[in-house]
Amino acid sequence: MRITRYAAAFAAFGVVLAGCSSEAGNQAGTAAENTSAVATDVQFDAGTTMAELNAAGAITIGTKFDQPGFGLLNPTTKAPEGFDVEMGKLIAAKLGIPADGITWTETVSANREAFIQNGQVDIVVATYTINDKRKEVVDFAGPYYEAGQDIMVAKGNPEKIEGPDDLAGKNVCSVEGSTPAENIRTKYPQAQLTLFDVYSKCADALTNGQVDAVTTDNVILTGLVAGNPEGFQLVGNPFTKEPYGIGLAKGDDAFRAFINDTLQESFDDGSWADAWDATAGAISGTEAPKPPTIDRY
Ligand code: GLU
Repeated sequence: MRITRYAAAFAAFGVVLAGCSSEAGNQAGTAAENTSAVATDVQFDAGTTMAELNAAGAITIGTKFDQPGFGLLNPTTKAPEGFDVEMGKLIAAKLGIPADGITWTETVSANREAFIQNGQVDIVVATYTINDKRKEVVDFAGPYYEAGQDIMVAKGNPEKIEGPDDLAGKNVCSVEGSTPAENIRTKYPQAQLTLFDVYSKCADALTNGQVDAVTTDNVILTGLVAGNPEGFQLVGNPFTKEPYGIGLAKGDDAFRAFINDTLQESFDDGSWADAWDATAGAISGTEAPKPPTIDRY
């Protein structure tokens, strides 16, 4: 039973933000020199991205480094951990790339499209909402999870913030280049928006009283609350839908189909649910939800 594993997994999983990175473009875990491909049952057509990555035995994956449960740099191993990281590992394994063939690059909310477009990363798995504006410049496999925008406040909710309408006249923190920041800017213009490059800085701003609230996806906030349950609480009233996709180069339809197939297989064989249990599920104490329906647009 999954629930019995939560306590152990929670203890093993780093929820401490100390030592986390906040500089965009940091790298952790360089691909090994001799990255012999692991066995894979999938044949790749010559000239495809899959064949190239398989032959190289290496892939560069962009993820977050400061979001407990989804992508958080382990200060000891210097490798990120979380549900997004597990999704990246599943894809690498299916490409025949061993774990030490993955180079993890920190992508923050604002540079994900650029990092894909200029080839700094092969894919981005980083609490990355699929939307039409982003699809103008990158493509998305997935979704592999659906989050929702929510609000985190100081413990006890001194400002009595129960939803986005209560942010009028309040100082609220979010991250540049994120959908939650854009949503506040356009739909709740009476809120005073403070923007940083990463959410851990918003958590610090809430701690020191610089802001009254932090807004982003509920699962990101859940990770921050888990790191400081005495200081923070989640409002728990999600008001958007944030389907998480895996970003890749626009127009690479074969690679997108391959990632979609890999995700679907992980939904079907239980490895997606296992990844949830070991990461975000361990932090939130929730069972893996029903996987979303993949959008093969
Ligand atoms: N899912 C939202 C986005 O992609 C917020 C989380 C984030 O900034 O990574 O913008």
